[in-house]
Amino acid sequence: MKALVFHGPGEKSWDDVPDPTILQPTDVIVKIDATTICGTDLHILKGDVPAVEKGRILGHEGVGTITEIGSAVTTLAVGDQVILSCISACGKCDFCKHGVHSHCLGDEGASGIGWIFGHLIDGTQAEFVRVPYAETSVYKLPSGVTPEQGVVLSDILPTGHEIGIRYGNVKPGDVVAVVGAGPVGLATIATSGLYGPSRVIAIDIDPNRIEQAKAFGATDGVVSSDADWKDQVLAMTDGLGVDVAIEAVGIPQTFQMCLDVVRPAGHVANVGVHGAPVEFALQDLWISNINVSMGLVNTDTLGVLLKLVAQRRIDPDLFISHRFALDDIIEAYDVFGRAAETKALKVVLQ
Ligand code: NAD
Ligand code: ZN
Repeated sequence: MKALVFHGPGEKSWDDVPDPTILQPTDVIVKIDATTICGTDLHILKGDVPAVEKGRILGHEGVGTITEIGSAVTTLAVGDQVILSCISACGKCDFCKHGVHSHCLGDEGASGIGWIFGHLIDGTQAEFVRVPYAETSVYKLPSGVTPEQGVVLSDILPTGHEIGIRYGNVKPGDVVAVVGAGPVGLATIATSGLYGPSRVIAIDIDPNRIEQAKAFGATDGVVSSDADWKDQVLAMTDGLGVDVAIEAVGIPQTFQMCLDVVRPAGHVANVGVHGAPVEFALQDLWISNINVSMGLVNTDTLGVLLKLVAQRRIDPDLFISHRFALDDIIEAYDVFGRAAETKALKVVLQ
């Protein structure tokens, strides 16, 4: 089959590789119908995620059709069209039972972050993919939801919801600021609406992204290159600061921006993947009773979000800016990587 293979920082190619095979009785093999590119793939290609080794097939978002099932799989069948969670999890180990599926211990001998596609196991930017622990890791695509709509549920919608909104403890009436209105920040904005915030402020360096954010439910926008960006945000809260500041970029500067605008006893929810250490003065947070949270997505809310997508309470079409054939994935990376110019959000490969 063809697959996008990581050959070390800055190096990737669309290669001929062996087809995946069933390795465990709980596996299925899925033929990819739709996949996409995530900001995290760009981090991996920059070398920010050293755990990803040369030779790894990239990609962790996908919808596809089951072509083969392991002997222990009883609730899925060949021909089922399914959304793949970006994280496969056994559902039975101690960490799964505590809801941290991203740290599933499984029983294949790996420990921790073993089952994220395109990280320590081969990914979805390929014609076929092996899905471990399939029964607890895939969701049947309901009628009325297309593969390209379903693919936003693999990672970005659960990430924005779980790590931004739920970890950030957004409550009715809150003022929420989201720093970074890329696909993940927009997913955060889209799912914030489920919790009744009074204002949602999109903050981005790119004015175009702020315009896009309004379609997802942002009530206000601030361009972060404005010298008075912070004053603009504080003016929206009578000078008090926002209740919840969500970091959705992954650089020290934007984490600091969250600290700059959060109110005492407010919450900073870090979603971004940081390739470098972030320094901040813990004593300043201590004296202001600031809460900070962060983490890898667990996709434990994927099923709930799927219901909301099926009912169009969340519109997945808003995320899709470009479509390519899977064979044109190198071109798709180029378009996604130049988002400021191309206005790319989610680039879907079919
Ligand atoms: P992206 O690169 O497409 O979007 C980032 C946005 O930040 C862009 O709109 C960009 O204009 C804006 N930006 C860049 N520098 C800025 C600055 N200095 N000030 C304000 N805005 C700035 O990324 P994405 O796909 O939306 O992902 C966002 C982050 O979330 C990435 O770090 C990604 O790796 C991470 N992520 C985390 C998880 C998780 O499990 N926690 C899952 C998926 C993605
Ligand atoms: Zn587990």
